[in-house]
Amino acid sequence: MSEHSVTARATQGGGEPADLDAYRGVGIFLEQHNGRAAPVAWELAGIGRKLADKLGVELIGFVAGHGVEAIAREAVERGCDRVYVLDHPALAVYRNEAFARALVPVIREVKPEIFLLGATTTGRDLAGTLATTLATGLTADCTQLDVDPETRLLDAIRPAFLEKQLAVILCKKHRPQMATVRPKMMEPAEPQPGRQGQIIRVDVDLDESQLRTEVLGVIDEPDPQAQLERADVVVAGGRGLQDPKNLKLLFDFAERVGGVVGASRAIVDAGWIGREYQVGQTGLTVRPKVYFAFGISGAIQHTVGMENSELIIAVNKDPEAPIFKVADLGVVGDLFQILPALQAELERRLDEEAGRDGGTGDDGARGEAAAAEDVPARAKGA
Ligand SMILES: Cc1cc2nc3c(=O)[nH]c(=O)nc-3n(C[C@H](O)[C@H](O)[C@H](O)COP(=O)(O)OP(=O)(O)OC[C@H]3O[C@@H](n4cnc5c(N)ncnc54)[C@H](O)[C@@H]3O)c2cc1C
Repeated sequence: MSEHSVTARATQGGGEPADLDAYRGVGIFLEQHNGRAAPVAWELAGIGRKLADKLGVELIGFVAGHGVEAIAREAVERGCDRVYVLDHPALAVYRNEAFARALVPVIREVKPEIFLLGATTTGRDLAGTLATTLATGLTADCTQLDVDPETRLLDAIRPAFLEKQLAVILCKKHRPQMATVRPKMMEPAEPQPGRQGQIIRVDVDLDESQLRTEVLGVIDEPDPQAQLERADVVVAGGRGLQDPKNLKLLFDFAERVGGVVGASRAIVDAGWIGREYQVGQTGLTVRPKVYFAFGISGAIQHTVGMENSELIIAVNKDPEAPIFKVADLGVVGDLFQILPALQAELERRLDEEAGRDGGTGDDGARGEAAAAEDVPARAKGA
Protein backbone atom coordinates (compact mmCIF):
# COMPACT_ATOMS: atom_id res chain seq x y z
CA MET A 1 0.00 0.00 0.00
CA SER A 2 2.95 2.30 0.53
CA GLU A 3 3.23 2.92 -3.22
CA HIS A 4 -0.22 4.39 -3.42
CA SER A 5 -0.86 8.06 -3.09
CA VAL A 6 -4.11 9.90 -2.82
CA THR A 7 -4.32 12.07 -5.87
CA ALA A 8 -7.83 12.18 -7.12
CA ARG A 9 -10.94 13.44 -5.40
CA ALA A 10 -14.21 12.99 -7.17
CA THR A 11 -17.75 13.87 -6.24
CA GLN A 12 -20.76 11.80 -7.12
CA GLY A 13 -24.31 12.56 -7.92
CA GLY A 14 -26.65 14.86 -9.74
CA GLY A 15 -30.38 15.46 -9.42
CA GLU A 16 -32.29 16.66 -6.39
CA PRO A 17 -30.16 16.74 -3.21
CA ALA A 18 -31.38 14.73 -0.21
CA ASP A 19 -32.32 16.21 3.19
CA LEU A 20 -28.93 15.26 4.63
CA ASP A 21 -29.83 15.86 8.29
CA ALA A 22 -32.61 13.29 8.11
CA TYR A 23 -30.00 10.51 7.74
CA ARG A 24 -28.06 9.14 10.70
CA GLY A 25 -26.15 5.93 11.41
CA VAL A 26 -23.85 3.56 9.56
CA GLY A 27 -25.67 0.68 7.85
CA ILE A 28 -24.06 -2.61 6.84
CA PHE A 29 -25.49 -5.44 4.73
CA LEU A 30 -24.88 -8.71 6.57
CA GLU A 31 -24.42 -11.08 3.65
CA GLN A 32 -25.24 -14.70 4.39
CA HIS A 33 -25.69 -17.94 2.52
CA ASN A 34 -27.74 -20.84 3.90
CA GLY A 35 -27.98 -19.08 7.26
CA ARG A 36 -24.20 -18.69 7.59
CA ALA A 37 -22.71 -15.22 7.59
CA ALA A 38 -20.21 -14.47 4.83
CA PRO A 39 -16.81 -13.51 6.32
CA VAL A 40 -17.12 -10.06 4.73
CA ALA A 41 -20.14 -9.34 6.96
CA TRP A 42 -17.86 -9.25 10.02
CA GLU A 43 -15.24 -7.24 8.14
CA LEU A 44 -17.93 -4.63 7.48
CA ALA A 45 -18.89 -4.78 11.17
CA GLY A 46 -15.24 -3.98 11.99
CA ILE A 47 -14.89 -0.95 9.74
CA GLY A 48 -18.53 0.08 10.24
CA ARG A 49 -18.03 0.26 14.02
CA LYS A 50 -15.00 2.54 13.56
CA LEU A 51 -16.90 4.89 11.23
CA ALA A 52 -19.95 4.93 13.54
CA ASP A 53 -17.79 5.75 16.58
CA LYS A 54 -16.09 8.57 14.69
CA LEU A 55 -19.49 10.03 13.79
CA GLY A 56 -21.00 9.28 17.22
CA VAL A 57 -23.86 7.25 15.71
CA GLU A 58 -25.23 3.70 15.74
CA LEU A 59 -23.97 0.79 13.68
CA ILE A 60 -27.03 -0.74 12.03
CA GLY A 61 -27.05 -4.23 10.50
CA PHE A 62 -29.46 -5.47 7.84
CA VAL A 63 -29.78 -9.22 7.32
CA ALA A 64 -32.09 -10.75 4.72
CA GLY A 65 -32.78 -14.46 4.23
CA HIS A 66 -34.79 -17.26 5.77
CA GLY A 67 -33.89 -18.50 9.26
CA VAL A 68 -31.24 -15.84 9.80
CA GLU A 69 -31.95 -14.56 13.30
CA ALA A 70 -28.80 -16.17 14.73
CA ILE A 71 -26.79 -13.89 12.44
CA ALA A 72 -28.54 -10.85 13.92
CA ARG A 73 -27.57 -11.98 17.44
CA GLU A 74 -23.97 -12.50 16.36
CA ALA A 75 -23.97 -9.08 14.66
CA VAL A 76 -24.89 -7.46 17.98
CA GLU A 77 -21.99 -9.28 19.66
CA ARG A 78 -19.74 -8.06 16.87
CA GLY A 79 -20.61 -4.41 17.30
CA CYS A 80 -24.05 -3.63 15.81
CA ASP A 81 -26.34 -1.50 17.98
CA ARG A 82 -29.45 -2.39 15.96
CA VAL A 83 -30.10 -5.17 13.48
CA TYR A 84 -33.07 -5.36 11.10
CA VAL A 85 -34.03 -8.94 10.26
CA LEU A 86 -35.84 -9.48 6.96
CA ASP A 87 -36.94 -13.10 7.12
CA HIS A 88 -39.07 -14.59 4.35
CA PRO A 89 -39.13 -17.87 2.39
CA ALA A 90 -38.71 -15.89 -0.85
CA LEU A 91 -35.36 -14.66 0.49
CA ALA A 92 -33.98 -18.15 1.20
CA VAL A 93 -31.70 -18.00 -1.86
CA TYR A 94 -30.26 -14.70 -3.07
CA ARG A 95 -32.17 -13.09 -5.91
CA ASN A 96 -31.56 -9.49 -6.86
CA GLU A 97 -35.19 -8.54 -7.28
CA ALA A 98 -36.42 -10.16 -4.07
CA PHE A 99 -33.62 -8.71 -1.93
CA ALA A 100 -33.94 -5.24 -3.44
CA ARG A 101 -37.73 -5.20 -3.00
CA ALA A 102 -37.36 -6.26 0.63
CA LEU A 103 -34.48 -3.96 1.56
CA VAL A 104 -35.33 -0.68 -0.20
CA PRO A 105 -38.37 0.23 1.97
CA VAL A 106 -36.43 -0.57 5.16
CA ILE A 107 -33.42 1.53 4.13
CA ARG A 108 -35.80 4.37 3.20
CA GLU A 109 -37.41 4.13 6.63
CA VAL A 110 -34.21 3.74 8.71
CA LYS A 111 -32.26 6.35 6.71
CA PRO A 112 -28.63 5.43 7.43
CA GLU A 113 -26.20 8.11 6.24
CA ILE A 114 -23.76 5.43 5.07
CA PHE A 115 -24.61 1.98 3.69
CA LEU A 116 -21.88 -0.63 3.05
CA LEU A 117 -21.92 -3.99 1.31
CA GLY A 118 -19.16 -6.51 0.58
CA ALA A 119 -17.70 -6.39 -2.93
CA THR A 120 -18.66 -10.05 -3.39
CA THR A 121 -20.69 -11.45 -6.27
CA THR A 122 -23.87 -10.93 -4.22
CA GLY A 123 -22.87 -7.56 -2.77
CA ARG A 124 -21.83 -6.11 -6.12
CA ASP A 125 -25.03 -7.31 -7.75
CA LEU A 126 -27.31 -5.99 -5.02
CA ALA A 127 -25.48 -2.67 -4.45
CA GLY A 128 -26.12 -1.45 -8.01
CA THR A 129 -29.85 -2.09 -7.78
CA LEU A 130 -30.14 -0.51 -4.31
CA ALA A 131 -28.18 2.60 -5.32
CA THR A 132 -30.20 3.21 -8.48
CA THR A 133 -33.52 2.60 -6.71
CA LEU A 134 -32.54 4.86 -3.80
CA ALA A 135 -31.14 7.39 -6.32
CA THR A 136 -27.83 7.77 -4.58
CA GLY A 137 -24.12 7.38 -5.35
CA LEU A 138 -22.18 4.12 -5.05
CA THR A 139 -18.43 3.63 -4.95
CA ALA A 140 -17.52 0.08 -5.93
CA ASP A 141 -14.65 -2.03 -4.65
CA CYS A 142 -13.25 0.19 -1.89
CA THR A 143 -10.04 -0.84 -0.18
CA GLN A 144 -10.14 1.84 2.55
CA LEU A 145 -12.86 3.92 4.17
CA ASP A 146 -12.77 6.94 6.41
CA VAL A 147 -15.20 9.61 7.49
CA ASP A 148 -14.92 13.31 8.31
CA PRO A 149 -16.90 13.95 11.52
CA GLU A 150 -17.29 17.65 10.59
CA THR A 151 -18.77 17.26 7.12
CA ARG A 152 -20.04 13.69 7.84
CA LEU A 153 -18.77 12.75 4.38
CA LEU A 154 -17.57 9.22 3.72
CA ASP A 155 -14.15 9.00 2.07
CA ALA A 156 -14.72 6.01 -0.20
CA ILE A 157 -11.17 5.12 -1.21
CA ARG A 158 -10.32 2.78 -4.05
CA PRO A 159 -7.44 2.14 -6.44
CA ALA A 160 -7.57 4.01 -9.73
CA PHE A 161 -5.43 4.54 -12.81
CA LEU A 162 -4.26 0.91 -13.07
CA GLU A 163 -3.98 0.68 -9.27
CA LYS A 164 -1.10 3.13 -9.20
CA GLN A 165 -3.04 5.75 -7.28
CA LEU A 166 -5.90 5.95 -4.84
CA ALA A 167 -9.05 7.90 -5.59
CA VAL A 168 -11.23 9.35 -2.84
CA ILE A 169 -14.85 9.45 -3.95
CA LEU A 170 -17.34 11.65 -2.11
CA CYS A 171 -21.10 11.58 -2.28
CA LYS A 172 -22.01 15.09 -1.14
CA LYS A 173 -25.65 15.54 -2.01
CA HIS A 174 -27.29 12.13 -1.79
CA ARG A 175 -27.94 9.61 0.96
CA PRO A 176 -27.09 7.01 1.98
CA GLN A 177 -23.47 7.27 0.88
CA MET A 178 -23.03 3.76 -0.53
CA ALA A 179 -19.90 1.71 -1.04
CA THR A 180 -18.91 -1.89 -1.61
CA VAL A 181 -15.78 -3.05 0.23
CA ARG A 182 -13.36 -5.66 -1.07
CA PRO A 183 -13.27 -8.79 1.07
CA LYS A 184 -10.14 -9.32 3.16
CA MET A 185 -9.24 -5.62 3.22
CA MET A 186 -10.68 -4.85 6.68
CA GLU A 187 -10.06 -6.52 10.03
CA PRO A 188 -13.12 -8.56 11.08
CA ALA A 189 -14.89 -7.46 14.28
CA GLU A 190 -14.36 -9.95 17.10
CA PRO A 191 -17.42 -11.12 19.06
CA GLN A 192 -17.92 -9.61 22.51
CA PRO A 193 -20.11 -12.19 24.28
CA GLY A 194 -22.97 -10.59 26.20
CA ARG A 195 -22.90 -7.33 24.22
CA GLN A 196 -26.43 -5.87 24.05
CA GLY A 197 -28.29 -4.45 21.08
CA GLN A 198 -31.70 -4.24 19.48
CA ILE A 199 -33.04 -6.84 17.03
CA ILE A 200 -35.96 -5.64 14.93
CA ARG A 201 -38.02 -8.13 12.87
CA VAL A 202 -39.37 -6.51 9.73
CA ASP A 203 -42.64 -7.57 8.09
CA VAL A 204 -41.49 -8.46 4.60
CA ASP A 205 -44.14 -7.84 1.99
CA LEU A 206 -43.08 -10.25 -0.75
CA ASP A 207 -45.01 -12.67 -2.88
CA GLU A 208 -43.41 -15.22 -5.22
CA SER A 209 -45.96 -14.25 -7.88
CA GLN A 210 -44.49 -10.70 -7.97
CA LEU A 211 -41.01 -12.01 -8.72
CA ARG A 212 -39.77 -12.59 -12.25
CA THR A 213 -37.36 -15.38 -11.33
CA GLU A 214 -38.00 -18.73 -9.71
CA VAL A 215 -35.39 -20.84 -7.93
CA LEU A 216 -35.69 -24.34 -9.39
CA GLY A 217 -32.82 -25.79 -7.39
CA VAL A 218 -29.37 -25.09 -6.04
CA ILE A 219 -26.36 -26.96 -7.40
CA ASP A 220 -23.73 -27.13 -4.72
CA GLU A 221 -20.36 -27.35 -6.47
CA PRO A 222 -16.96 -26.75 -4.91
CA ASP A 223 -16.15 -23.11 -5.51
CA PRO A 224 -12.42 -22.53 -6.23
CA GLN A 225 -12.95 -18.79 -5.71
CA ALA A 226 -14.31 -19.26 -2.19
CA GLN A 227 -11.56 -21.79 -1.40
CA LEU A 228 -8.91 -19.34 -2.57
CA GLU A 229 -10.35 -16.48 -0.52
CA ARG A 230 -10.37 -18.62 2.62
CA ALA A 231 -7.06 -20.45 2.08
CA ASP A 232 -4.28 -20.21 4.69
CA VAL A 233 -1.70 -21.13 2.05
CA VAL A 234 -1.84 -19.92 -1.56
CA VAL A 235 0.53 -21.35 -4.16
CA ALA A 236 0.43 -18.94 -7.09
CA GLY A 237 2.10 -19.15 -10.45
CA GLY A 238 2.65 -16.84 -13.41
CA ARG A 239 4.06 -16.77 -16.90
CA GLY A 240 7.38 -17.98 -15.54
CA LEU A 241 5.80 -21.45 -15.56
CA GLN A 242 6.29 -21.25 -19.34
CA ASP A 243 3.75 -23.90 -20.33
CA PRO A 244 0.28 -24.86 -19.06
CA LYS A 245 1.43 -28.43 -18.47
CA ASN A 246 3.76 -27.08 -15.76
CA LEU A 247 0.75 -26.05 -13.68
CA LYS A 248 0.86 -29.61 -12.40
CA LEU A 249 3.93 -28.60 -10.38
CA LEU A 250 1.83 -25.94 -8.62
CA PHE A 251 -1.13 -28.24 -7.99
CA ASP A 252 1.12 -31.00 -6.61
CA PHE A 253 2.95 -28.57 -4.34
CA ALA A 254 -0.33 -26.98 -3.19
CA GLU A 255 -1.75 -30.40 -2.33
CA ARG A 256 1.38 -31.28 -0.37
CA VAL A 257 1.31 -28.07 1.70
CA GLY A 258 -2.48 -28.07 2.13
CA GLY A 259 -2.80 -24.94 0.00
CA VAL A 260 -4.91 -23.65 -2.87
CA VAL A 261 -3.60 -22.66 -6.30
CA GLY A 262 -3.72 -19.02 -7.43
CA ALA A 263 -2.66 -17.41 -10.71
CA SER A 264 -1.52 -14.19 -12.31
CA ARG A 265 -3.74 -12.68 -14.96
CA ALA A 266 -1.16 -13.39 -17.66
CA ILE A 267 -1.76 -17.13 -17.45
CA VAL A 268 -5.51 -16.69 -17.04
CA ASP A 269 -5.65 -14.55 -20.20
CA ALA A 270 -3.50 -17.13 -21.96
CA GLY A 271 -6.20 -19.71 -21.19
CA TRP A 272 -3.95 -21.90 -19.02
CA ILE A 273 -6.29 -21.76 -16.01
CA GLY A 274 -9.78 -20.42 -15.15
CA ARG A 275 -10.43 -16.83 -14.14
CA GLU A 276 -11.66 -18.01 -10.72
CA TYR A 277 -7.99 -18.62 -9.80
CA GLN A 278 -6.84 -15.07 -10.62
CA VAL A 279 -5.40 -12.93 -7.85
CA GLY A 280 -5.22 -9.16 -8.21
CA GLN A 281 -7.05 -6.03 -9.21
CA THR A 282 -9.43 -7.76 -11.59
CA GLY A 283 -9.32 -11.03 -9.66
CA LEU A 284 -9.49 -11.90 -6.00
CA THR A 285 -7.92 -10.29 -2.95
CA VAL A 286 -6.35 -12.91 -0.71
CA ARG A 287 -4.79 -12.66 2.73
CA PRO A 288 -3.37 -16.09 3.54
CA LYS A 289 -0.79 -16.91 6.18
CA VAL A 290 1.64 -17.88 3.40
CA TYR A 291 1.62 -16.76 -0.24
CA PHE A 292 4.02 -18.46 -2.66
CA ALA A 293 4.66 -16.59 -5.94
CA PHE A 294 6.39 -18.76 -8.53
CA GLY A 295 7.39 -16.99 -11.75
CA ILE A 296 5.23 -13.94 -11.11
CA SER A 297 6.80 -10.56 -11.93
CA GLY A 298 4.84 -8.65 -9.29
CA ALA A 299 3.00 -6.04 -11.36
CA ILE A 300 1.03 -3.67 -9.13
CA GLN A 301 -2.24 -5.10 -10.48
CA HIS A 302 -1.17 -8.46 -9.06
CA THR A 303 0.36 -7.35 -5.76
CA VAL A 304 -2.70 -5.30 -4.80
CA GLY A 305 -4.51 -8.62 -4.43
CA MET A 306 -1.94 -10.36 -2.20
CA GLU A 307 0.30 -7.80 -0.49
CA ASN A 308 -1.53 -8.17 2.84
CA SER A 309 -0.58 -11.86 3.11
CA GLU A 310 1.24 -12.60 6.36
CA LEU A 311 4.31 -14.17 4.71
CA ILE A 312 5.15 -13.78 1.03
CA ILE A 313 7.69 -16.14 -0.51
CA ALA A 314 8.70 -15.29 -4.08
CA VAL A 315 10.77 -17.29 -6.55
CA ASN A 316 11.86 -15.46 -9.68
CA LYS A 317 14.93 -15.71 -11.84
CA ASP A 318 15.09 -11.92 -12.32
CA PRO A 319 16.69 -10.24 -9.26
CA GLU A 320 15.03 -6.95 -10.29
CA ALA A 321 11.50 -8.42 -10.40
CA PRO A 322 9.12 -6.09 -8.51
CA ILE A 323 7.66 -9.05 -6.61
CA PHE A 324 10.76 -8.88 -4.37
CA LYS A 325 9.58 -5.46 -3.13
CA VAL A 326 6.59 -7.03 -1.40
CA ALA A 327 8.19 -10.41 -0.59
CA ASP A 328 9.31 -11.32 2.93
CA LEU A 329 11.50 -14.09 1.51
CA GLY A 330 12.86 -13.92 -2.00
CA VAL A 331 14.73 -16.59 -3.92
CA VAL A 332 16.43 -15.56 -7.15
CA GLY A 333 16.50 -18.71 -9.21
CA ASP A 334 14.82 -20.99 -11.66
CA LEU A 335 11.47 -22.17 -10.34
CA PHE A 336 11.93 -25.49 -12.13
CA GLN A 337 14.81 -26.17 -9.75
CA ILE A 338 13.49 -24.45 -6.63
CA LEU A 339 9.95 -25.80 -6.62
CA PRO A 340 10.87 -29.51 -6.81
CA ALA A 341 13.66 -28.90 -4.31
CA LEU A 342 11.24 -27.24 -1.89
CA GLN A 343 8.82 -30.09 -2.29
CA ALA A 344 11.53 -32.69 -1.77
CA GLU A 345 12.78 -30.91 1.36
CA LEU A 346 9.25 -30.60 2.67
CA GLU A 347 8.58 -34.27 2.12
CA ARG A 348 11.87 -35.18 3.78
CA ARG A 349 10.89 -33.16 6.87
CA LEU A 350 7.38 -34.56 6.92
CA ASP A 351 8.82 -38.06 6.69
CA GLU A 352 11.23 -37.21 9.48
CA GLU A 353 8.42 -35.86 11.62
CA ALA A 354 6.37 -38.96 10.99
CA GLY A 355 9.30 -40.91 12.38
CA ARG A 356 9.80 -42.75 9.14
CA ASP A 357 13.05 -43.23 7.26
CA GLY A 358 13.65 -39.80 5.62
CA GLY A 359 14.87 -38.89 2.15
CA THR A 360 13.12 -38.98 -1.19
CA GLY A 361 16.16 -39.83 -3.21
CA ASP A 362 15.77 -36.46 -4.91
CA ASP A 363 19.20 -35.19 -4.03
CA GLY A 364 19.73 -33.76 -7.51
CA ALA A 365 16.96 -31.25 -7.06
CA ARG A 366 18.21 -30.28 -3.62
CA GLY A 367 21.73 -29.81 -4.93
CA GLU A 368 20.55 -27.51 -7.70
CA ALA A 369 18.49 -25.44 -5.32
CA ALA A 370 21.49 -24.92 -3.13
CA ALA A 371 23.33 -23.61 -6.17
CA ALA A 372 20.62 -21.03 -6.81
CA GLU A 373 21.29 -17.63 -5.36
CA ASP A 374 19.38 -17.33 -2.11
CA VAL A 375 18.27 -13.83 -1.34
CA PRO A 376 18.19 -13.40 2.41
CA ALA A 377 14.91 -12.26 3.87
CA ARG A 378 14.02 -8.91 2.35
CA ALA A 379 11.97 -6.42 4.21
CA LYS A 380 8.65 -5.53 2.61
CA GLY A 381 8.90 -2.42 0.51
CA ALA A 382 12.71 -2.64 0.41
C1 LIG B 1 -6.45 -3.04 -15.92
C2 LIG B 1 -5.52 -4.17 -15.62
C3 LIG B 1 -5.88 -5.09 -14.64
C4 LIG B 1 -5.04 -6.16 -14.34
N1 LIG B 1 -5.41 -7.05 -13.38
C5 LIG B 1 -4.55 -8.03 -13.03
C6 LIG B 1 -4.88 -8.95 -11.97
O1 LIG B 1 -5.97 -8.92 -11.38
N2 LIG B 1 -3.98 -9.89 -11.65
C7 LIG B 1 -2.76 -10.00 -12.28
O2 LIG B 1 -1.97 -10.90 -11.93
N3 LIG B 1 -2.44 -9.15 -13.28
C8 LIG B 1 -3.32 -8.19 -13.67
N4 LIG B 1 -2.98 -7.37 -14.70
C9 LIG B 1 -1.80 -7.71 -15.51
C10 LIG B 1 -0.49 -7.26 -14.88
O3 LIG B 1 -0.23 -5.93 -15.25
C11 LIG B 1 0.67 -8.16 -15.38
O4 LIG B 1 0.71 -8.10 -16.80
C12 LIG B 1 0.55 -9.61 -14.96
O5 LIG B 1 0.34 -9.70 -13.57
C13 LIG B 1 1.85 -10.34 -15.31
O6 LIG B 1 1.73 -11.69 -15.03
P1 LIG B 1 3.03 -12.57 -14.73
O7 LIG B 1 3.76 -11.97 -13.60
O8 LIG B 1 2.59 -13.96 -14.65
O9 LIG B 1 3.83 -12.44 -16.11
P2 LIG B 1 5.16 -11.66 -16.48
O10 LIG B 1 5.03 -10.22 -16.17
O11 LIG B 1 5.47 -12.05 -17.87
O12 LIG B 1 6.24 -12.24 -15.47
C14 LIG B 1 6.76 -13.53 -15.52
C15 LIG B 1 7.86 -13.59 -14.48
O13 LIG B 1 8.37 -14.90 -14.43
C16 LIG B 1 9.77 -14.84 -14.24
N5 LIG B 1 10.32 -16.10 -14.76
C17 LIG B 1 10.40 -16.53 -16.04
N6 LIG B 1 10.92 -17.78 -16.10
C18 LIG B 1 11.17 -18.14 -14.81
C19 LIG B 1 11.71 -19.30 -14.20
N7 LIG B 1 12.06 -20.36 -14.94
N8 LIG B 1 11.86 -19.32 -12.87
C20 LIG B 1 11.51 -18.25 -12.10
N9 LIG B 1 10.99 -17.12 -12.62
C21 LIG B 1 10.81 -17.07 -13.96
C22 LIG B 1 10.21 -13.62 -15.04
O14 LIG B 1 11.46 -13.13 -14.54
C23 LIG B 1 9.06 -12.67 -14.79
O15 LIG B 1 9.30 -11.84 -13.67
C24 LIG B 1 -3.81 -6.30 -15.03
C25 LIG B 1 -3.44 -5.36 -15.98
C26 LIG B 1 -4.29 -4.32 -16.28
C27 LIG B 1 -3.86 -3.32 -17.31
